[in-house]
Amino acid sequence: RHYLDKISASSHLNAWLEVYEVEALETAALLDKQRHSGSPLGRLHGVIVGIKDVICHKDHKVSAASRVLENFTSVYSATATDRLLADEAIIIGRQNCDEFAMGSSNENSAYGPVRNAIDEERVPGGSSGGSAVAVQAGMCMVSLGSDTGGSVRQPADFCGIVGMKPSYGSISRYGLIAYASSFDQIGILAKNVDDVKLVLDVIAGADEFDSTVKQKPSHIPALKKSYRFCYFQNALEHSSLDPTISEEIKGFIKKLTGEGHTVEPVAFDLLDYIVPTYYVLTTAEASSNLSRYDGVKYGYRNSNKENNLNELYQQTRSEGFGPEVKRRILLGTFVLSAGYFDAYFTKAQKVRRLLVDKTLKIFEEYDAIILPTVPTPAYKIGEKKDPVEIFLADIYTVYANLVGIPAISLPLFKNDKGLPFGLQLMSSQNNELHLLSLSKLLI
Ligand code: GLN
Repeated sequence: RHYLDKISASSHLNAWLEVYEVEALETAALLDKQRHSGSPLGRLHGVIVGIKDVICHKDHKVSAASRVLENFTSVYSATATDRLLADEAIIIGRQNCDEFAMGSSNENSAYGPVRNAIDEERVPGGSSGGSAVAVQAGMCMVSLGSDTGGSVRQPADFCGIVGMKPSYGSISRYGLIAYASSFDQIGILAKNVDDVKLVLDVIAGADEFDSTVKQKPSHIPALKKSYRFCYFQNALEHSSLDPTISEEIKGFIKKLTGEGHTVEPVAFDLLDYIVPTYYVLTTAEASSNLSRYDGVKYGYRNSNKENNLNELYQQTRSEGFGPEVKRRILLGTFVLSAGYFDAYFTKAQKVRRLLVDKTLKIFEEYDAIILPTVPTPAYKIGEKKDPVEIFLADIYTVYANLVGIPAISLPLFKNDKGLPFGLQLMSSQNNELHLLSLSKLLI
């Protein structure tokens, strides 16, 4: 009831696309009975969770914040959803986000922007903007988002909370609406690292419905007294980076050194290639993944009875998708087209391979990489209009998805306007538990 009241008091923030009021109260009552009967309790017994509107929940609507899936009901649950429920979490509703998780400000939702509770004129980040604000404003305890290129970490940064993307292959993607399948991971947004760890433990691990998922690591390396960190010098000197953020992160690095850790700069000459590589590969994958929304199989269908099949596809997709999704489908089909495939898609795959090789080398020497999460704090709704400028602000987050490593944004700082921003840490692949322990050590 407390959380439902919070949600209705904060409805102007537009964080939720649907709230399951009756169902949540019924589940709470059932769980209450179970607790009093003395039977053993699930690890998330009574924990109030919100899920981004790209994660399927059987017999509940899921729309990817798109008109094309308006009124579509899931016929099965995502593995992550099933595991939350099996451990007795209460899913209280589905959360607003950028359409098909494409965006950085939640302004690309077909159902209106989400507002940042710290300053309602500002964006909460995206694409998991509703999920971040729901935790930020105390409307649920934790949220599940999705992170293809920063969509959990970036809104966590803008909202002053913790956001973590585990390694690729850590959490099943079964029942997660696909944006770019070789990048997508479900991530967790919470107020603290312990909550992230608990939820990760419940939902991660092998799944017969997603062959890319690995077994959960069975042991966490013990904490050491001191660690070896590195940072990318050119990332901290980058022209797009807000000077306050740069100063605070440099100050934090000094503090770590003072505490006996080693922190060293490494040369990272691929920095300027990561955003273009990310947008070539993700739009290519998206153009293929989104071809299924054709007005025949799912959701919205153009109702003009005179249409032949091609016209039905065309009109359904023209009316169903928003401008950002269309832009990305066009970009994706372009980079995959016969004449340009080698120049863009193949080239980007080669850069991705170089990045993986470079990353393996880095982790031979260092325990973790330190980066900002986002170059600037949250901006005003409507302020940024140039899509390329918005793409370029993904400079610090997309790297982890390109190489499949875990990454976390920790809310460490605030600027003089009281706007929060985070510190980002990344560790080697499949080392998320270690990354979480390290995070706790540092904050
Ligand atoms: N901002 C990035 C994009 O627009 C990240 C999206 C995501 O992680 N889903 O693609």
